[in-house]
Amino acid sequence: MRVRVLGCYGGNIPGHGMTSLLVNDTICLDAGWTTEALSLRQQVKVKDILISHPHLDHTCSLPFLIDNNFSSPGFSLRIYGIREVIAAMKNHLFNNHTWPDFTCLPNDLTPVLKLVEVEEEKPFVINGLTFRAVPVSHLIPTTGFIVEDKKSAIAYSSDTGPTHRFWEVVNGLKNLKAVITETSFPNELQDLAHVSGHLTPATLDRELKKLKQKVPVYLYGAKPKHLKTLKAQIKALKRSNLHMLVQGKTYKF
Ligand SMILES: [Zn+2]
Repeated sequence: MRVRVLGCYGGNIPGHGMTSLLVNDTICLDAGWTTEALSLRQQVKVKDILISHPHLDHTCSLPFLIDNNFSSPGFSLRIYGIREVIAAMKNHLFNNHTWPDFTCLPNDLTPVLKLVEVEEEKPFVINGLTFRAVPVSHLIPTTGFIVEDKKSAIAYSSDTGPTHRFWEVVNGLKNLKAVITETSFPNELQDLAHVSGHLTPATLDRELKKLKQKVPVYLYGAKPKHLKTLKAQIKALKRSNLHMLVQGKTYKF
């Protein structure tokens, strides 16, 4: 499978720390940075978006993705998430106040947007790929996603502090090729990382002891202001399988 990094951290776009990964050109894991990273022709190909949690850095380009492509022939979008995520989409985003309720537009019978509730850990298939939403430990109900095709599996944790079940599921994957997880704050901001449900290099190091498979681990989420410090602290962990995700890069797994 191909995973293109649409957004992962500040990188060379100062001030932004949005998260979005594009799988096989048509499926997004989170949608913090889709319309900015994709041309209109590429945007219209996106049909399915899995949302880990409703925080803006994972969802803020959704309204514009729909708006940009609303009148394109055959355009429609499905958003997947656990019950709490779908409820937040309905109540706080597509509520006619923040943005139009596209689940009724252009009409109730053929809306451009469908919200699809998924059950934790229950596999579902989109375009030949199997997905599972697995709970992690963030401020609000949040899941990572396992993505599998016939040859490979990848695990994306989304935003999380120290967590348990995610690593259990990851360790049970047969064809695991990579883990994508986060490190948001440097070690000196451990208290802030703790209250906001994020990892620092120190807690990441402890989390990675739970990973029993030898695979590359890619990191996103570095707050732009702390990127330099974070890179140094991550390097100091001396884990050769640890890499920062590269914005704009396409990975093949
Ligand atoms: Zn978050």
